[in-house]
Amino acid sequence: MNVAKISQYLLKIGQPKFRVNQVSENYYLAKFNSFEEMTNISKDLRLKLSENFSFLSIKEDDMVESKNSLKARLKLADNLYIETVLLKYKDWNTVCVSTQVGCAMGCTFCATGSMGFKRNLTTEEIVDQIIYWKQKGIDVSRIVFMGMGEPFMNWQNVRQALIDIHSNLKIGWRKMTVSTVGVIEGIEEFISWGQQVNLAISLHSLNQETREKIMPSTKVYKLNELIKICHRYTNQTKRLLFFEYALMDGINDTDTDAYKLSDLVNSNKLFFANIIKLNMVKTSKIRPSRRTDQFCRILDVNRVKYSRRMSMGSEINGACGQLIS
Ligand code: SF4
Repeated sequence: MNVAKISQYLLKIGQPKFRVNQVSENYYLAKFNSFEEMTNISKDLRLKLSENFSFLSIKEDDMVESKNSLKARLKLADNLYIETVLLKYKDWNTVCVSTQVGCAMGCTFCATGSMGFKRNLTTEEIVDQIIYWKQKGIDVSRIVFMGMGEPFMNWQNVRQALIDIHSNLKIGWRKMTVSTVGVIEGIEEFISWGQQVNLAISLHSLNQETREKIMPSTKVYKLNELIKICHRYTNQTKRLLFFEYALMDGINDTDTDAYKLSDLVNSNKLFFANIIKLNMVKTSKIRPSRRTDQFCRILDVNRVKYSRRMSMGSEINGACGQLIS
């Protein structure tokens, strides 16, 4: 819902401020699926709102479910589609939101990358993905910006969405994570913004050439610049920085790669690596590594701070890199 526009409209037609707040509270509580259901406001006003505005900027087109995840395909007002995923952990639920329709970064292991870039999502379209899950009665307590798109390529809208989610959906800054391929100017802005939102870097290799092969956008966002700014991030924020490393068969999973990753993570006490099983996508020939144990053994020997992440949502093509519309 475009709360700002609706608030303006309500004030313009002479509604008192408390009514404006009531409508926005109704929306963020996500107990209603339409203006018509908001029985705590007058029928006449409900009618006016439904005639002039859409309740959500997205509409469910399809949903698939597995044991611990659900993936929804959502239709936007201009007939484009995005996907959003709900990950059900033992003690909490995480929503993975998309920030763009498609993505210009072109990572070769990612289904979204194969779509090319269509457009940025508005703040409303980002926040509505969370409202969509909440409307189903799901208690959402964590958000990851790891769906379709590169968040720093749509930073103004993503930042406003983070602010909205924090202030109105009452999700703590530290319960939200923004993930980037390493858009340097985006990381700079993120540091200057100064909020305690987590930052994750899709690293996947410590070799400039390999990175360029699997993540073409890194021709611009060079590895040495990225590492420099990562140190700056931890120096200024004193917060952990997460490196995402999806192990790919014959690409980034040699012993040398493991030693390089060990050196990087051990170079800063606030660096942390997440070792991820690559999710297969139809659009790519890249396969998951068969050397995960050997790779992790080297990290263990080097006392690297890391976790081996289980890949949730892969059965429904809803895991990292698998979203496509
Ligand atoms: S991995 Fe992320 S940045 Fe790369 S193409 Fe896919 S959505 Fe874009």
